[in-house]
Amino acid sequence: MTPAHPALAQTDPELAALVAAEEQLQADTLRLIPSENYVSTAVLEATGTVLTNKYSEGYPGKRYYEGQQNIDPIETLAADRANALFGTEHANVQPYSGSPANLAAYLAFAEPGDTVMGMSLPHGGHLTHGWSVSATGKWFRGVQYKVRREDGRVDFDEVRDLALAERPKIILCGGTAIPRTIDFAAFGEIAREVGAVLVADVAHIAGLIAGGAHPSPVPHADVITTTTHKTLRGPRGAMILTRAEHARAIDRAVFPGLQGGPHNHTTAAIAVALHEAAQPSFREYAAAVVANAKALAAQLAERGFELVSGGTDNHLILVDLTGREVPGKVAAKALDRAGLVVNYNTVPYDPRKPFDPSGIRLGTPSLTSRGLGTEQMAQVAEWIDRGVAAAKAGGAEEDVALKGIRGEVAELMASYPAPGLPVG
Ligand SMILES: *Cc1c(COP(=O)(O)O)cnc(C)c1O
Repeated sequence: MTPAHPALAQTDPELAALVAAEEQLQADTLRLIPSENYVSTAVLEATGTVLTNKYSEGYPGKRYYEGQQNIDPIETLAADRANALFGTEHANVQPYSGSPANLAAYLAFAEPGDTVMGMSLPHGGHLTHGWSVSATGKWFRGVQYKVRREDGRVDFDEVRDLALAERPKIILCGGTAIPRTIDFAAFGEIAREVGAVLVADVAHIAGLIAGGAHPSPVPHADVITTTTHKTLRGPRGAMILTRAEHARAIDRAVFPGLQGGPHNHTTAAIAVALHEAAQPSFREYAAAVVANAKALAAQLAERGFELVSGGTDNHLILVDLTGREVPGKVAAKALDRAGLVVNYNTVPYDPRKPFDPSGIRLGTPSLTSRGLGTEQMAQVAEWIDRGVAAAKAGGAEEDVALKGIRGEVAELMASYPAPGLPVG
């Protein structure tokens, strides 16, 4: 068989073998991590172009380097496509990833020591929303809102009270483990009332927003930050979308505030992903991601799994395994052996520690990219149920059960070729 990457195999067989093994793993496992996806072959090709050879500090038309004849139109194309897709006035497509994009928002609108307000990490927020171990929690004074214990949802009376008491410069909404629709209008109203800049971090749901399967933060948020590699199905990277009035502050924060040269091969791949996301088929994809998540949540609930907030509105399901008497990490490791790739996760008010929490987090973006539909979600739930039961049983029983599931998973996935992966 000819290797999928012949030059790589020739130059560095050791690395090529690891890549081939990863291709195999991504092909024959059911990937349920909600922040992951499969990019298209076109996006992969763009990331592998000679654009990686270029330095382009600055912005189109205002570079510190010559030789930008092709780079300027590429970056302009990506930014124009982002604005067209999300209905925004200005797009900065240079942030290296989601975390530096958020840091740029802080740099643009706050001074060290200022108060910033975000969702508590164990309640679904992100490290960069002012959590203590993050630079954003060390250099700023982070205050955190939570979700209600009863229904796992944000209490806007609490958010408003906290904002009025703390007067944050920046309010962040969005997160990494939020199974419900984010009410951007409610956050916008509170931000205006207290004079805060509202940053909507839509990293997880950007693809759903682009595809019309989640409400848009436009016009409620002052700034929108997002990764490009989650539901948006682009390369690893990020964007900041704003109204024209904030364009200069954001651009200066990204460069020269935080970064040097943009990653032009990534910018090109972002442009490709945005082009794909503007097609009617992407609207179908976004709707299918949500339909699959709702179907999987319903099947899991039927099997007695406790879901944070009782279900999902989007691509993500947070399962509280306390009632199953299996810690999240134990379950996640067992499921991984069964070919079901998930991550362990804290649940709101988790009595366990973040590195050994009570929950697992599931998502449907990847399996939907492979063409699985709602009719397969009963099977997926059954595998998860069996896998978690096996994890609780332990010993030889566990080994046999997980091996059995692993075979069934590989067999199903063989009928659903993954975008971007070599076949055969
Ligand atoms: C993934 C994510 C980020 C960080 O993105 P990285 O690219 O991993 O730095 C930031 N915010 C939210 C809400 C995320 O989900």
